[in-house]
Amino acid sequence: MKILVSNDDGISSGGILALERALQKLGDVYTVAPDRPQSSMSHALTLHRPLRVEEISPRHYAVDGTPTDCVKLALTGLLTVKPDLVVSGINHGPNLGDDIIYSGTVSAAIEGALLGIPSIAVSLVSFKDFIFDAAAEFTVALVSQILQITLPPSTLFNVNVPAIPKQEIKGWKLTRQGKRHYSEKIVERVDPRGRKYYWIGGDDLGFAHDNGTDCMAVHEGFVSVTPLQADLTNYRFLQECRSMVIPWP
Ligand code: MN
Repeated sequence: MKILVSNDDGISSGGILALERALQKLGDVYTVAPDRPQSSMSHALTLHRPLRVEEISPRHYAVDGTPTDCVKLALTGLLTVKPDLVVSGINHGPNLGDDIIYSGTVSAAIEGALLGIPSIAVSLVSFKDFIFDAAAEFTVALVSQILQITLPPSTLFNVNVPAIPKQEIKGWKLTRQGKRHYSEKIVERVDPRGRKYYWIGGDDLGFAHDNGTDCMAVHEGFVSVTPLQADLTNYRFLQECRSMVIPWP
């Protein structure tokens, strides 16, 4: 089996190294990942400058682009083989609820799914003391299962692993995307030349305690596994919208 690994924290991050090591038990691992941190890049593609690729060791490529650039490059010409699977991560930090829309980690997996390859995004729900063992081992177990089923088009799995000792993890749960709350305050400062500048990035204010969500599962000590789709259509609301009458201008 051939596995493409990518991430958004950069090719030398601890999370991607742990993931590569674990997946090597299952087959040949090819890593194509950003040469520097690219978190929160979402699904950005680089179109207005060339991309440079450095082969830093056999089957290891560092790209001066986004996570989506990496997966697109890998699957559309850089690699001479077609991977059976794309795994993105292990992210240093959660990708729960609203995080998903901003996440470079998840977007790398979305790109894999859009290009027709079963894909998984894996994140460790921690902000310090990153120990990736449990997340890496669970990913190996999940991969073995995923390859036995047929995923619907443009569908991927988003996995979040609580950062507690492996023996304290209660198991895993299938979940839906939840809702996280962040402080909406922006930080305004003044530079040495007297001009204002701003920092985005609010405090984490917790999450909506809704049963069945990714946030809740991790909170309760379970690994969360959410099937996601790249098709963002709100199908339930689409039905309601059918009653709208908009006069043609
Ligand atoms: Mn990241």
